Amino acid sequence: MALTDAYQRPLKDLRISVTDRCNFRCTYCMPREHFGADHAFLPRDELLTYEEIAFVVDALTACGLQKIRLTGGEPLLRRNLKALVAMLREVGPELDLAMTTNGALLKTHAAALREAGLNRVTVSLDAVDTSTFQSMSDTEQVDPEVIFSGIDEALRVGLTVKVNTVVRRGVNEHQILPLARICHERNISLRFIEYMDVGNTNAWKLDEVVDGAEIRSLLETEFGTLTPKPSEERSEVARRYTLESGYEFGFIESVSNPFCGDCSRARLSANGSIYTCLFSANGNDLKGLLRFGANKNDVLEAIRAIWEKRNDRYSMERADRMDDENKVEMSFIGG
Ligand code: SAM
Ligand code: SF4
Ligand code: SF4
Repeated sequence: MALTDAYQRPLKDLRISVTDRCNFRCTYCMPREHFGADHAFLPRDELLTYEEIAFVVDALTACGLQKIRLTGGEPLLRRNLKALVAMLREVGPELDLAMTTNGALLKTHAAALREAGLNRVTVSLDAVDTSTFQSMSDTEQVDPEVIFSGIDEALRVGLTVKVNTVVRRGVNEHQILPLARICHERNISLRFIEYMDVGNTNAWKLDEVVDGAEIRSLLETEFGTLTPKPSEERSEVARRYTLESGYEFGFIESVSNPFCGDCSRARLSANGSIYTCLFSANGNDLKGLLRFGANKNDVLEAIRAIWEKRNDRYSMERADRMDDENKVEMSFIGG
């Protein structure tokens, strides 16, 4: 039986953070001044094991779970991730299995992940220009060519690929058209994400948000009319627009056009807590239960109790809640 929350939203989508570590320090997500050499990342024994993660997913598959997204931190930093993908594929042969990655290590891992049963990959890429890319992700080791070689390899092995771009005013607006050109040329779906006030470390300001409408106007100057396309399913986060040729751009407008009403996503943090919203202050510990010998029904009932109480709608209440303190960091619970 499906799990539904206080607003009758089902739990259909589970985002699993497999690590809180990352090889980038994107300024809007893990600014180096807060995630420096002395930052205390989770110790290994605090992380859920792959068996524990698969156990939770197995408990939820009977109750309407349809999609899993592996994320982080950077999921490809977790050793032998393909083993987790294989376990998840075994417990849910019909599950839609996706991963969000910064793409730096994708070329090395794409084939094995596909082989293990991954369906889709979303690659985050905020610029095609090396200096903008490196300053936004605060890395000197990687350039956009590396990311594109990962994307090409993912396509070659048969993964469905999307690119996600966060746009921050004054930082990478000038990359909107170059990114659109390159993705359009390669026929890779591109989605623009409005910069969000997740966590407490990125010093978010509303005037740094470039909203979807502004991005669409800019795209139309080069690509012609964008026509809105109805969503395939209610819980889809991206609003889709097509060009006359059929090519599609997506817009994740969590600030200007929030979609909490249909939000069916739960998040499982790397240390085993369930979060019912990206902007939650606290999670609900499952690891204790798992390590005290709970069976699948115990886990399911614990998640049901959490989900039935869920009344989160942060993005729709943002104006009144912008000063909330102690919001969890996105790198910790997974984007
Ligand atoms: N490291 C992986 C990556 O970057 O794809 C996965 C985790 S990352 C937290 C997931 C997504 O969250 C990325 O697409 C990233 O751009 C997005 N993100 C992080 N901070 C954000 C913010 N403040 N506003 C909007 N999107 C953000
Ligand atoms: Fe790392 Fe992804 Fe956050 Fe960038 S957005 S710092 S790549 S977790
Ligand atoms: Fe879902 Fe929370 Fe985002 Fe609203 S703000 S869409 S409830 S995660």
